[in-house]
Amino acid sequence: MKNLNVCKASNRVSKNTVYGYINYEPMKKYPSISAIILIMSCSACAQRSPESGNNGGKHEQTAAASTDKVVKSDSEWQKELSPEVYQVTRQHGTERAFTGKYWDNHEKGMYYCACCGNPLFSSDTKFDSGTGWPSFYAPVKESNVTEIKDTAYGMIRTEVLCSRCSAHLGHVFDDGPKPTGLRFCMNSASLKFEKK
Ligand SMILES: [Zn+2]
Repeated sequence: MKNLNVCKASNRVSKNTVYGYINYEPMKKYPSISAIILIMSCSACAQRSPESGNNGGKHEQTAAASTDKVVKSDSEWQKELSPEVYQVTRQHGTERAFTGKYWDNHEKGMYYCACCGNPLFSSDTKFDSGTGWPSFYAPVKESNVTEIKDTAYGMIRTEVLCSRCSAHLGHVFDDGPKPTGLRFCMNSASLKFEKK
C-alpha cells in the first residue's frame, strides 16, 4: 500500500508534459486531399510564428514566479527558528503524537509554512485522522508542496516538503478520506495557523 504513494507522486510529475503540435502525415490514398492539408498546415505555420514569440515571453514570467525559493544556511535557520521548529523542519524530525498545537484545532483558516510563510493547507481539507497529528486530504495548491520518496527507518514512505524552502512537513499516505483518498500527516511544528 505504501508503494502506491510513490507511484502517485511520480504520476503527478508526469502531468508537466510539454505538448508539441501535431504534424499531419500526408494520406497516400488521396493525393489531392493530402496536398490541401499540406497547404493548410503551411499557412497555419505562417500564422503561428508571431504567437509563439508571445508564448515564449509568458513562459519566462511563469518560470520566474515558480523559482521564488527561500534558501538559507543551516546555521541561519537555527538562529531564526525555535529549537522545536528547527528540529522538525530542518532536521526531518517528528513531534510526538497528540503534543502539537494543531492536531485538535477546528478553527477555520489557513496553515502556512512555519519557516517561510508559504500557504500549504486550508482548514477546509482538514479532518480528524485520530493519529494525533494535523491531517489534511489535499494541499491548498499541489505545487506548493513537494513529495519525495523517503526510505529512512527501513520504511518506504512519501515525505512532504515545502516547495519554497524545503522544510520537512510530514508524510503523505493513501488511506485518507474522499475526494482524494490521501492523508497528509503533518507536524504542527512545521505549520503556522492564521484564523480566517
Ligand atoms: Zn517553507
